[in-house]
Amino acid sequence: MTDTSISFMRSLCGGEIEQEVLFPFPRLGPAEAETIAAVVDSVDSLLEGRAEEFRAWDVAGEMPSEFLDELREFGLFGLIIPEEAGGMGFGNLAYSRTLQQVARHDASVAVTVGAHSSIGMRGLKLYGTEEQKARYYEKLARGEMIAAFCLTEPGAGSDAASVRTTAIDRGDHFLLNGSKIWITNGGIADFFTVFARTAEVDGKGKLSAFIVTRDMPGVSVGPHEDKMGLRANSTTTVTFEDVRVPKENLLGPLHGGFKVAMNILNNGRSGVGGGTVGAMKRLIGLAAQHATQRKQFGQPIGNFGLIKQKVGQMVVDCYATEAAVTLTAALTDRGYEDTSVESAIVKIFSSEALWRTADEALQTAGGGGYMRELPYERILRDCRINRIWEGTNDILRLYIALTALNDVGQRLKEMSSSLKGIFDHPIKGFGLLYDYARRRANWATGLPTAKSSLSKAHLALRPQAELFEDLTRDLAAMADRLLRKHGKHIIGKQFATRRLADVMIDLYVLACVLSRVTSAIETKGLDGAQAELWVAQVFSGQAGRRARSNFRQIDENEDEQVKSLAEHAYERQGYAWDIL
Ligand SMILES: Cc1cc2nc3c(=O)[nH]c(=O)nc-3n(C[C@H](O)[C@H](O)[C@H](O)COP(=O)(O)OP(=O)(O)OC[C@H]3O[C@@H](n4cnc5c(N)ncnc54)[C@H](O)[C@@H]3O)c2cc1C
Repeated sequence: MTDTSISFMRSLCGGEIEQEVLFPFPRLGPAEAETIAAVVDSVDSLLEGRAEEFRAWDVAGEMPSEFLDELREFGLFGLIIPEEAGGMGFGNLAYSRTLQQVARHDASVAVTVGAHSSIGMRGLKLYGTEEQKARYYEKLARGEMIAAFCLTEPGAGSDAASVRTTAIDRGDHFLLNGSKIWITNGGIADFFTVFARTAEVDGKGKLSAFIVTRDMPGVSVGPHEDKMGLRANSTTTVTFEDVRVPKENLLGPLHGGFKVAMNILNNGRSGVGGGTVGAMKRLIGLAAQHATQRKQFGQPIGNFGLIKQKVGQMVVDCYATEAAVTLTAALTDRGYEDTSVESAIVKIFSSEALWRTADEALQTAGGGGYMRELPYERILRDCRINRIWEGTNDILRLYIALTALNDVGQRLKEMSSSLKGIFDHPIKGFGLLYDYARRRANWATGLPTAKSSLSKAHLALRPQAELFEDLTRDLAAMADRLLRKHGKHIIGKQFATRRLADVMIDLYVLACVLSRVTSAIETKGLDGAQAELWVAQVFSGQAGRRARSNFRQIDENEDEQVKSLAEHAYERQGYAWDIL
């Protein structure tokens, strides 16, 4: 029986490799693969050959309403809604693969469709009552209602708990007042998942989530924001003025809205991941074409080492992202309850891999890459947002590392309390101590234990698996050491926690790559999977060097000087020097 309460990464920080979670690499069943292939083909038939339109909508900063009708007709707003309610009934993996295909053509279109399912109506799917689902599912599936997620306010960005919008209990309804900013799909949505304060404890708001519809008196939206990228997708303010929200529109538990918001964001991240893979595949196609066609110094530029380095790296980044996106989406589908750390890792890795890829593809195109006639600069502008929204990558790095350290701290606390109570509960106490001592000994000596091995990786990947095992021991030892050194003050040690998070990101993605390449070797043989073996070799070499450098820098660094220089700039409100 699978233990679906396990989180691969949270276990890893305690030094335990729960390899059953990631092996074997998920494979779609024949029926599901056939359905998705048909959807992917029809996405292509809808969006192929429309590049000029997408470019024009980017310049105009708007998507025509007739095109939204085409998306509706196509059923693209019903991807995650059950079939009996008129949707496609897709799980996370199928959903993410479909968004990949849309994003290959245009990011604004992908975000219009993606924000609806990933965050706009995800709360209804996760927390809605049967009655709420019956009321809205069919309209949402047909795109008769497009959905938006309303959390951010001028004073509440990363610090979502400081939302000021209020919902006051007035007996048969809640009275909603406040204003939200930068709401994706704001201008075209009719269904809003809104977060508002319903109580206050120690100056901090207790949030609740509500379903609010456009037809409720007092709901209004502002004009489209003039954005850097995703210009054809609607982003607006949404304002609520004395909106009477019926009691039955409360979504999830009263005062439990913060958790609802975080779960929606965690669950919806496979959409962002799928989109990034689609954009990377397109960029690799463009870069490979340009590298082989453009001649300089009497030969195709693709012959030069520096161009090969860029394109080869794009392939590694894309393969690694696809492995991590696929595995993580499948974990949610297979019922794993806690994938929040893994999902955060996927969001960070995929958004940064796409940014690198877009930047290097543009560089490969030279001056042409800078021209608006070609798609590179638009893709670069469009993809920048992925590092900011749905939790900035900085905040998610803190979340990843602090969640892991909290687990380690919890174990240490259990250990110290068992030490105190050792004579009351000798067996439990000695058991915990023995377990901890054994794990510490293992981190120091590398002696094998039941959970210290990545034995499911193919034998051809043994060197990479050994690297993973070594780095896992180092990670657990480092987490333990950081916590002993800083205790609860670790929360303020962002330089160190960032490095720990970066190691965790590399280790998770490496494990996903090893799982995927193992599966490729098993199905295609070593020769058939040769190129994928190269990916594993390159990625593990790079991840290993980054991780070792991050570990080293936790102790050897210039962090204090860097902080002083930041304060130097704050004091002067700018840079201090000139050569004049
Ligand atoms: C195009 C677009 C679409 C969007 N769509 C939606 C939407 O549909 N719904 C919605 O609710 N929101 C949406 N947002 C808002 C988005 O989620 C927020 O912009 C994001 O959460 C960051 O908040 P902020 O912009 O207020 O930045 P801030 O929170 O002010 O952060 C500024 C910087 O400080 C860093 N920072 C903040 N706190 C800390 C800390 N404790 N430690 C270290 N660093 C820190 C951040 O990482 C960031 O780099 C959208 C934004 C944009 C631009």
